[in-house]
Amino acid sequence: MILCLYVAGTFLLNDKVSTNIFVPLPAAILAFVTAVVSVFAYIWAPKKWPYQLALATYFLMCITTGVLIELTGGQHSAYIPMWMMLAVFSGLFGFWGLGSIFTFTNLSIIYHTFLSSAPYTREQIIIFFLAGEMPLLVSYLIWHERNTQDQRKSKAYEAMAKELNQVANKSETVINSIAEGVVVTDEQGKIQLINPAAQTLLGWDKQDAMGLDYKSVIIIGDSKGNALPDNASPISQMMITNQSITTNDYSLTTHSGKKILISLLVSPVGDSAAGAIIVFRDITADKEEERAKAEFISTASHEMRTPVAAIEGYLGLALNPSTAVIDDKARMFLEKAHESTQHLGRLFQDLLTVSRSEDGRLAPKPTVVDIVTFTKEIVDSLMPKAQGKGLFLVFKPNSGGTEEGTKTVSPVFYSYIDQDQLREVLNNLVDNAIKYTKQGNVTIDITGDDANITVGVTDTGIGVPPEDVPHLFQKFYRVDNSDTREIGGTGLGLYISRRLIESNNGHIGVNSEFGKGSTFYITIPRISHDRANELIQDAQQAATAQPTTPVAPIPGGTPVASTQTTAPAPAPRSAAPSIPVAPPRQ
Ligand code: ADP
Repeated sequence: MILCLYVAGTFLLNDKVSTNIFVPLPAAILAFVTAVVSVFAYIWAPKKWPYQLALATYFLMCITTGVLIELTGGQHSAYIPMWMMLAVFSGLFGFWGLGSIFTFTNLSIIYHTFLSSAPYTREQIIIFFLAGEMPLLVSYLIWHERNTQDQRKSKAYEAMAKELNQVANKSETVINSIAEGVVVTDEQGKIQLINPAAQTLLGWDKQDAMGLDYKSVIIIGDSKGNALPDNASPISQMMITNQSITTNDYSLTTHSGKKILISLLVSPVGDSAAGAIIVFRDITADKEEERAKAEFISTASHEMRTPVAAIEGYLGLALNPSTAVIDDKARMFLEKAHESTQHLGRLFQDLLTVSRSEDGRLAPKPTVVDIVTFTKEIVDSLMPKAQGKGLFLVFKPNSGGTEEGTKTVSPVFYSYIDQDQLREVLNNLVDNAIKYTKQGNVTIDITGDDANITVGVTDTGIGVPPEDVPHLFQKFYRVDNSDTREIGGTGLGLYISRRLIESNNGHIGVNSEFGKGSTFYITIPRISHDRANELIQDAQQAATAQPTTPVAPIPGGTPVASTQTTAPAPAPRSAAPSIPVAPPRQ
C-alpha cells in the first residue's frame, strides 16, 4: 500500500497529491524491503521457522510505518491509524510481538515528552498515549486467550504424537518379532504390512509385496494343495462376512511354488471391514507328526484288540459253569481279570475310533432316520442294564406333542444322518447316564422345531463340577473325584461323541449340577416329511440299480415311524468287542 501511494504520488500525480498522504523515499525503500522479505518468507524461505520469519516481517512493517509517520508529521501524520491497525496484530506473536511494540511505543512517548526539542503538550501526550497503548491492550485481549489455547493444544498434540510414535514403534517391534506370519490389508485387499516371518514363509520381499493385492501374494489352497475357486478362501469369506475365521484346513503356495499346510487366523480391521489381519504359520511338520502318531495308535490298537478279545473270550469260557468247573476263589480272580480285559478292549476300540475320526476315515454316510423310533430301540437295548442297577429308564418321545382329544400326538422327527454314528453317540450318553447314576431315573426326551431335533439324556446322578464342564468333551478327560474313581472309563466316549455329532452337522452339550444330576443333549438338523420321502425314494432308486437291503418309504398322509431304515442296535460302547472262541483243548 505504501509503495502504491509512493508510485502514485511521485510518478502519476506529479506531487499534486495531498501532503498528508505523501510517501517519502526512505519509507518507500523500507516498504520495498519489507515486501521483498515477506514474499521471500512466504514462498522460498525454509518452512522450519514460520514464527521467526513472520515476526521479522512484522517488525519490518512496523519500522516502515513508524518511519513513515515520523517523516509525514509525527502526531499529525495521516498514517497513525495504520500504526494502530498494525499494533493490534502484535499480540499474534505472543510475548515477543507485544513486548517489542509496547517497549517501542513507550520509548517513543518518553522521547517526545522529555527528550525532543519540541516536546508534546499534555493533550498531545494523552492522544499519543491512547493511540499507542489502546491497540496494544486490545491486541492483548484478543490474542492472549487464543495463544494460550493454541499453546495448550499444540502441547497436547505434541504429547499425543509422541505417544502415537512410541506405540507405533512398540507395535512394529512386536509384529516384527512374532514367529507367525502377519499380513495386514486395506479394505481393497492391498497389502499394507507384511512382517519378516510372513516374508520368509511366503518368499516375498517387503518392497515387492507392499501395495499388491493379497490374492497374488497369499495363494490359499485346500488341505491337499488344490486351488480354491474365487471367494472360497477363508480370507475372502472374512472380507464378505466381517467375522474372524480360525482354521487349520488350508494350504498355501509360496512364491517359489512350494505348498505348505498352514494354521490361519483372519480377522477384520475394526468393526467396519476396513481391511484384514492375516496371521498364519507353517504346520506341515506338526500335521505329519500328528498323522504318524495317529497311524501308530491305530495300528497298535488294531493289533492289540485281537489278542485281548481272545483273552476275554477264554475268560468268559472259564467263568461259564457249563464249560469249566472252578472253585469260588478262582472265580473271583477270573471275574476281576475279565472286567479288566473288557476295559482294555473298550480302550482299544475307542482309540481306533478316535484315530479313524481324526484322519477323516469316519466320513458320515447319511440315511433318513426316524429319530423317535431309533432312540427307542437304543433305550430298550439298555433297559436291562438300568434295571440291573435299580434305575428307572424313562423314554419321553412326547415332549412338545399336541393333545388331540385324550390322545397325545407325538411329532415325527426325521433327520438325514449317519445312523451308526448317531447310535454310537446315543448309546454312549445313555450308558454314561446309567454308569454315573447311583439311584433315581434316567430320562431320554426328544424335542424339536422346524430346523432341529434335540435328544436330551437327563439323569439324577453324581453331576459334574462346574470347573470340569468346559473340558468334558476333550480327549481322555475324566472328572477325577471320589465318585468317579471307582467307575471305570477311558475318557474318550464324549470326545468321540462330539466328533461324530459335529461331522453330522450337529452339536453336543451338557447342563449339569454337581451332586444333583446332568443333562447331556445333542442337537441335529431336522428334515421335513416331504424331504424325507424324496431322499427315501432316491435311495430306493439307487437300491434298484444296485440291489441291496430294501428301504421302506414313508406312507403318505400321517407318517409312520419306520424301523426298517435302522440297522439292529449294536452292543453299547461299554460292551467289549468279542470274537467267537473255541473252547481250549485240554
Ligand atoms: P468315560 O465315561 O469312559 O470316562 P466319557 O468321555 O464318556 O468317558 O466321559 C468323560 C467324563 O465325563 C467321565 O469320566 C465322567 O467323569 C463325566 N461324565 C460323563 N457322563 C456323565 C454323567 N452322565 N454324569 C456325570 N458325569 C459324567
